[in-house]
Amino acid sequence: MQITVDMNLCESHGQCVFAAPEVFSFDDEDYLVYDAAPSDALLDKAEKAAAVCPARAITVTPAPSTTDDTTAAR
Ligand code: SF4
Repeated sequence: MQITVDMNLCESHGQCVFAAPEVFSFDDEDYLVYDAAPSDALLDKAEKAAAVCPARAITVTPAPSTTDDTTAAR
């Protein structure tokens, strides 16, 4: 999974930190820091964080399927 935060939009509301503390946090100067490539096990939490972000600053891109669809289709 890939996560990007548009820091031009982020207003440090912190909703994402509450929704997915494994992914988002604030540094000592209250700047948002985040794991840009967390485990897919955190996908639900990351999507919830994106949904609650008032600034709509978070984009979550699930990892591409590892299944090779071209060979699986018969
Ligand atoms: S919820 Fe959105 S605006 Fe608030 S800190 Fe997280 S990314 Fe920034």
